[in-house]
Amino acid sequence: MNTHEILSETLGKDRVLADKNLFSYLTLRTSTVAEYFFEAHTKEDLLLAIRTAKKLNIPFTMIGGGSNIAATKNKIPGLVIKNNYANLELIKDEKEYAEVLVSSGYTITLLVNKTIEKGWGGFEHHEGLPGTMGGAIYMNSKWTHPWSYVSDPLISANLLDASGELKTVTRDYFNFAYDYSILQKTHEVFIDGVFRLEKKDPAILKEQSHETMLYRRQTQPFGEATCGCFFRNISKEDQDRLQLPTSSSGYLIDQVGMKNKGVGAFVISPVHANFIINTGKMEGNTADLLQLVKEIKEKVSQKFGIQLVEEVVVV
Ligand SMILES: Cc1cc2nc3c(=O)[nH]c(=O)nc-3n(C[C@H](O)[C@H](O)[C@H](O)COP(=O)(O)OP(=O)(O)OC[C@H]3O[C@@H](n4cnc5c(N)ncnc54)[C@H](O)[C@@H]3O)c2cc1C
Repeated sequence: MNTHEILSETLGKDRVLADKNLFSYLTLRTSTVAEYFFEAHTKEDLLLAIRTAKKLNIPFTMIGGGSNIAATKNKIPGLVIKNNYANLELIKDEKEYAEVLVSSGYTITLLVNKTIEKGWGGFEHHEGLPGTMGGAIYMNSKWTHPWSYVSDPLISANLLDASGELKTVTRDYFNFAYDYSILQKTHEVFIDGVFRLEKKDPAILKEQSHETMLYRRQTQPFGEATCGCFFRNISKEDQDRLQLPTSSSGYLIDQVGMKNKGVGAFVISPVHANFIINTGKMEGNTADLLQLVKEIKEKVSQKFGIQLVEEVVVV
């Protein structure tokens, strides 16, 4: 049996697709093909898919909401797993707080709405954050007004480790920092986690989420095909050395005159210069994206002597 046949036999007849174009699963709508593609709808699906890839010794790539992935290759080798494992479960109900289990494929949009409805505070500042809990933990996704990470209320998590074994870790394990969690080094998969949420008045939580959304709409392109901030902001040392008013990479890109500039369908947003937008919204050419990224880096390097580093995950 070949790899496709083994994957299909293990994961379900007709559930493993070969050479599947991923553009509709990536919010930047880049055209790239998965050698093999599988959608996991349950925890069992997810564990089986990863373990099977490991057993076959083929690479696997997780996709949550696909909202922080920039595809620059025409083909992604191995198994691409789209994670739809969605579960939100109350596991402890105390007077002051609730503890909930949130699965990796649960979308942040739904989570914010559900937790506000219940009067559980902790995720209200992430209204409008695209993607899933798995991606948010991997990226350590944040909101900056006020500063708050999706991971802040995390107490413990279940991970699938390199040998395919499930293990439970506490929050400290992740070494969370700006745009960083240890999963980026260990390549373990976040399966689900327990979060402690403070009980609050739903009306107050709703108001806070509303404020986030208003600020988002004013400062970020809205309703566009994009994968969020493309480059990491520069360090405080570089900002001070160059006497810049901000550490924002968007500011540097704006200063080199690249706002509104583009290659093919990919254009730098006029609203926020750190956002690349696929104006075609359909199957953007990866070569165009690569060319635009190259031009941005060259211009910023020539003017400021700074090498921009991607915040998005490049596959
Ligand atoms: C319009 C827009 C606005 C945005 N605003 C913000 C913002 O305010 N703040 C912010 O921080 N980000 C922002 N982002 C970026 C992005 O939405 C977040 O980083 C989001 O949390 C990523 O989640 P995802 O499920 O889409 O991850 P994906 O893009 O699917 O994946 C990102 C990475 O995580 C890995 N991954 C996914 N699931 C798992 C898992 N279960 N275990 C291990 N690894 C996994 C993937 O393999 C990939 O390497 C924005 C993006 C867009 C398009």
